[in-house]
Amino acid sequence: MGESGLVKVVVLAGGVGGARFLLGVKAALGMPAIGAAPDDSAHDVTALVNTADDVWLHGLRICPDLDTCMYTLGGGIDTERGWGHANETWTVSEELKAYGADPTWFGLGDKDIATHLIRSRMLRAGYPLSAVTEALCHRWQPGVTLLPMSDDRVETHVVVDDPDEPAQQKALHFQEWWVRYRAGLPAHSIVPIGADEAKPAPGVTEALAEADVVLIAPSNPVVSVGTVLAVPGIKPALQATKAKVVGVSPIIGDRPLRGMADACLSAIGVETTAEAVGRHYGARKADGILDGWLIAAGESADVPGIDVMDVPLLMSDVDATVAMVRAAFELAGTSVD
Ligand code: GDP
Ligand code: CA
Repeated sequence: MGESGLVKVVVLAGGVGGARFLLGVKAALGMPAIGAAPDDSAHDVTALVNTADDVWLHGLRICPDLDTCMYTLGGGIDTERGWGHANETWTVSEELKAYGADPTWFGLGDKDIATHLIRSRMLRAGYPLSAVTEALCHRWQPGVTLLPMSDDRVETHVVVDDPDEPAQQKALHFQEWWVRYRAGLPAHSIVPIGADEAKPAPGVTEALAEADVVLIAPSNPVVSVGTVLAVPGIKPALQATKAKVVGVSPIIGDRPLRGMADACLSAIGVETTAEAVGRHYGARKADGILDGWLIAAGESADVPGIDVMDVPLLMSDVDATVAMVRAAFELAGTSVD
């Protein structure tokens, strides 16, 4: 904890699971769950957000996980769907469909398109994604610093049997596999293309170095957290920080919640259990990333070198998520005033 009694929290996050978790982190720190704190005396939260789901469609750069975090924390999310704007309309998508413009499987709402237009224009003008994100957040005031994991282009591709030519394999952009095929085509491999040459975005390794506690949101271990960790420099920064690193399992029982993370885990040969994911992340003292691992109430997990605690892990509302975050702080030995 800093001398002022304020804590610096860094969260590794994907989209829906990351955003819901961040709502709870803010509330657990006494910050308003939605929007910015009224003054700057509050605790400090930085989210390192996955950008490997990002994709160019119709000439627009779409950043699903950054936008889900931004809209959720800024109060503009469609809470039923978990992504996109509340009160969205779909006129532009219908017009694109009428033109037969591919792809038709990705829903782009009219309000959402405004975000993508601004982002794409700024990227084409030469601004890095981190600066674009900061500019978009001026409007949304998420109350946490949202940092893309990298300003460099990293895109998860999934190798499957070609649905048109089954004798051949084909690499699909993650979004096509996930949204168009609902992760129904068995994945031979999942590769974050470009990650090897990517650099962490400005502020990412600094935030990890200065953190009092680092939390791994219950996000997809492969295509959200795994891709953040694939950016050279981020894992070493996690291993070097003086802060404790505590992760939260996205798996309860033997299933991911509201998702298809099991399809990603099986592609990398990891069982869909909290124990297997904890072991996959591994203990910091054994070249992994975790000091602590939260698993669902009533479960047990033997994860060498890691403190395991079982608590209710369902983020059914902000209060439930706050209790989860408090347990993570407790496991990290972080006290919050
Ligand atoms: P995406 O980028 O929108 O797919 O979202 P994330 O990667 O951030 O999060 C997806 C993961 O969140 C899935 O693997 C789910 O298992 C997990 N998840 C969703 N809701 C809950 C919940 O209430 N509790 C826990 N522990 N995990 C959840
Ligand atoms: Ca995502």
